[in-house]
Amino acid sequence: MRYSAGPLQRLVGYGRIKNDDHVRRAMGTEILYMDDIGSNYVREFEAVVSKASMDGSEPPRPYVILDRTAFYPEGGGQPSDVGTLRLVGDDGEPVPGPEGVFNVVHVVKKGNNVRHILDRPLPEETSGVKAVIDWDRRYAHMRMHTSQHIISAVVYDNFGAPTVGNQIHADRSRVDFHPVKFTDEDISEIERLANEIIDGTIEVEIRNRTRDSIEAMGIGQRCNLDLLPKFITELRVVTIGEDDLCPCAGTHVASTEELGHIRIIKKESKGKDKERITYVLE
Ligand SMILES: [Zn+2]
Repeated sequence: MRYSAGPLQRLVGYGRIKNDDHVRRAMGTEILYMDDIGSNYVREFEAVVSKASMDGSEPPRPYVILDRTAFYPEGGGQPSDVGTLRLVGDDGEPVPGPEGVFNVVHVVKKGNNVRHILDRPLPEETSGVKAVIDWDRRYAHMRMHTSQHIISAVVYDNFGAPTVGNQIHADRSRVDFHPVKFTDEDISEIERLANEIIDGTIEVEIRNRTRDSIEAMGIGQRCNLDLLPKFITELRVVTIGEDDLCPCAGTHVASTEELGHIRIIKKESKGKDKERITYVLE
């Protein structure tokens, strides 16, 4: 596929972007998976290099900021995506061979920008790239994240305990609840109820809603709404049919039928009235 120049690239040509750097910095990276559930499935995209530099870690790591990205930066209990960037030459064609490919080993958010940490520095003259996300890993995170929302909803609805922490991995994930104390029977019931929701083949929706409208639903605690800064008045909300609604910046699947089956493999106490559930998908 031919690399097509974006509007900005047409403005500044293929040269390294310098003059409008302050403008792009102010705007920040355009995030390609935010708008709706369909955009969560973007796994390849083309982008213009905004900045390539070394970060402040020891030893410093090379990174690149792109004008747009579908790579998820680590945060909210969801690990960063990894993948590859293939250089696009001045002729607009991808640079062939291994020397044209750079591995994205980690992704972090820094202010309004998304930094893609690379295995080696990009060449100075790089203007455009063709990006590919490691889809097996990302899709596993999407399935795990939607499953976490379902488990959190079940526990909130049946035990009144909000989620106070979570960590997703591709193979197994965990959620922390407080205040609550689960028996073994409770765990079986949570698993049963979560799978009942999944088996209902429910569509997952993502859209922006006002904070006021969410507060009016009286589910602020489920969403930890009070932890979000007051100046945020519009939130990206993930809805699972009638079963759950929660502000979240993560990536999700479009339907519960993509989840398979939740199996809770562990329950542990993490302090007074704080319980951790570890689960897998099968
Ligand atoms: Zn979430």
